Amino acid sequence: MQAPTTIDGSDEFMPASRPRRVSVLGATGSIGRNTLDVIRHFSAREDFRIVALTGRANVDLLASQAVEFGAEIAVTADEGKYGALKAALAGTGIEAAAGAQALEEAAARSADWVMAGIVGIAGLAPTLAAAQAGATIALANKECLVSAGDLFLAECAASGSAVLPVDSEHNAIFQVLETNQRQAVERIILTASGGPFRDWAMERMAQVTPQIAAAHPNWSMGMKISIDSATMFNKALEMIEARHLFAVEPRQIEVVVHPQSVIHSMVGYADGSVLAQMGSPDMRTAIGFALAWPRRAHVPVERLDFAKLSRLDFETPDEQRFPALRLAREAMDAGGVSGAILNGAKEAALEAFIAGKIGFLDIARAVEETLERLDAGEEPDTLEAVYEADRQARATALELMAA
Ligand code: NDP
Ligand code: MG
Repeated sequence: MQAPTTIDGSDEFMPASRPRRVSVLGATGSIGRNTLDVIRHFSAREDFRIVALTGRANVDLLASQAVEFGAEIAVTADEGKYGALKAALAGTGIEAAAGAQALEEAAARSADWVMAGIVGIAGLAPTLAAAQAGATIALANKECLVSAGDLFLAECAASGSAVLPVDSEHNAIFQVLETNQRQAVERIILTASGGPFRDWAMERMAQVTPQIAAAHPNWSMGMKISIDSATMFNKALEMIEARHLFAVEPRQIEVVVHPQSVIHSMVGYADGSVLAQMGSPDMRTAIGFALAWPRRAHVPVERLDFAKLSRLDFETPDEQRFPALRLAREAMDAGGVSGAILNGAKEAALEAFIAGKIGFLDIARAVEETLERLDAGEEPDTLEAVYEADRQARATALELMAA
């Protein structure tokens, strides 16, 4: 393997005066495992002190990660797993803790860089705790922005914590957005793979199982985000995420289906230029970018071979079969707590689909009806308002699905 070097070609590596303190929230998940893999690779050049690693169900993996990386503390979100985690860490000197409160406290421990890799709204409180403590946030969890948007970013700004987007589309935009040319940004073009049912008829989509829906054609990810890609709710969340991250109007956000997932997203400027970021569909590029930022460093992902690629395709998303994109636009237009409602209803419907209680097409139906039923209200100015909207959306979606 090629030796790690910086992109400017210098082998000159300037070690920090002290090890960088890093925490990984959701360490046992797809993003978390990839993050630890990148840290493992970067460790050849830089000293890291791993502060907190967190997970939920998979305590065996969490414990072995904590031992390998010499973490200060390992936390499972599931209080029922405390005994198992404690036993697995016995004699290692690594602290074990469990539950929501412990998770937030661990996230708030002094750290320079925190990966927000917990899935769903469950990631909001711990990520916010890390941001309030002033850490740089590598943000994979999109629900923080979808549900709490400006409130979350205001907290980050107040504590001076930088937010580095890790979601591949937003990471791509972050890379090609010329910060001194904001006024010349015309549009943000999010690419979407289209998921496994890109060219399936509705009748066939109505029959799919969670296992089929979770098999993403290009990216290897956690189960929930994979199914969200199949419904295109993942892209719907990403539109709202982009709106907050890059302070653009909803009408400036476009989605184009690009089945090869080579272009990870683009920015269109007033002079007609479109800047794209490309790479293999491997999250370690975005994670490595966030970990090395503001420099660039070697990440061992497969390099693009353009001769082998030979073609890149693009098509307009079919909003008949994938209403999620329209629902995202409607939620952005409605404002208030619509993002939290859309996400809460989607999470409830997704769980019902995974449990075999509703069909694939019922997911979008439940979200649409929940958005129609509930009032968008005012922009949330407290976390409690966000959680209340989330609770109401879940309850309403459950009621509608049971009807
Ligand atoms: P996974 O399901 O693979 O992992 C989720 C992580 O969160 C695991 O560590 C899991 O623990 C933990 N977790 C699950 N539920 C809870 C809970 N209630 N409280 C605390 N921790 C919990 O998800 P991904 O890694 O795929 O995704 C993580 C986030 O990153 C999501 O928001 C996703 O949208 C986003 N993202 C992911 C991408 C990817 O490539 N995977 C790409 C872009 C964004 P355990 O497994 O031990 O139960
Ligand atoms: Mg994405």
